[in-house]
Amino acid sequence: MSRRALISGAAGFLGSHLVDRLLQDGWHVVGVDNLSSGRLLNLKGARERPEFRFLRADLRRPVRLPSADVIFHLASPASPPQYQMDPIGTLEVNGFGTSQLLANARRDSSRFVLASTSEVYGDPQVHPQPEEYWGHVNPIGLRSCYDEGKRFAEALATAWHRQRGVDVRIARIFNTYGPRMALDDGRVISTFLGQGWKGDPITVQGRGRQTRSFCYVDDLVDGLVRIAEVPPIDGPVNLGDPRGELSVLRLAQLVREMTGGRSQIVFVPRPPDDSEQRRPNIRRARRLLHWAPTTSLPQGLQRTANAVARELQERGLGRGRTNPSRKTPRRKGIR
Ligand code: UDP
Repeated sequence: MSRRALISGAAGFLGSHLVDRLLQDGWHVVGVDNLSSGRLLNLKGARERPEFRFLRADLRRPVRLPSADVIFHLASPASPPQYQMDPIGTLEVNGFGTSQLLANARRDSSRFVLASTSEVYGDPQVHPQPEEYWGHVNPIGLRSCYDEGKRFAEALATAWHRQRGVDVRIARIFNTYGPRMALDDGRVISTFLGQGWKGDPITVQGRGRQTRSFCYVDDLVDGLVRIAEVPPIDGPVNLGDPRGELSVLRLAQLVREMTGGRSQIVFVPRPPDDSEQRRPNIRRARRLLHWAPTTSLPQGLQRTANAVARELQERGLGRGRTNPSRKTPRRKGIR
């Protein structure tokens, strides 16, 4: 009999890719989303499948949910402009929402996979970040609703495991990119690609020396599936691509090249509490999940650039175009 998954945040960027992957692997999937930041368009393919059911619901209120073998809890605004628009809602979905799904997991003896984040490390003073690092988080800063929301969700999940025996797995997800990122959610890769294809200025915040490590979405989703499938594990596991660390300015230059070179790079103010650097230590993921990302940044970026160009064309915006004859830029010299 096929396995059943319940995915909260199913209409979001990561959630919808996870839905597609599980359907492809033969699972039955129920996707839950309140569509506050997710888009039904992301589930277009999935909704044509009889093995998929979509439930529009807001997990900040009590909801009756069907049982599942695995619950993947991804519901939360995840880009800085989105969570800063609704800090209370962000804390609530990570607090009450998580609590509610953990109760369901206990009721139905489901495995519970929490989508946590590298933001639990805050502006890290240890680099790269291993899971043992406790982080450097401003509890009242602009990002605190997300950082502390996810830290609370991790604490809750761990408490339900210790006190009530729920089989909990925590994935700390680092910056991830790929097709279906919302163009207007303020994340750096989607913003830069949109600007590049439109020939608009590419807005580098600060001097662009801050770094991030970017993981391609298919790799990340593979990590999430593996974390659900291995025997019970203790403690969180980082999922991200340590090979992809680069400065924001270098990223802007790459995107500029990849989108036809018409954009200027401009420097704009940097928001407070923006992390200086971020790179996962993925030793635990390698050991426990036998997982490591395989898609290179140039490959993944080119696929994402093509997807953004298609979306802009469909919306009749900008001069975005894909150029299949264009070779993927070589990785050399990216850092
Ligand atoms: N960033 C930028 N220009 C933009 C959006 C973001 O320079 O238009 C920078 C931002 O300052 C941060 C990095 O890109 O240092 C990553 O930002 P994002 O919002 O994608 O994710 P974060 O890692 O901050 O959650």
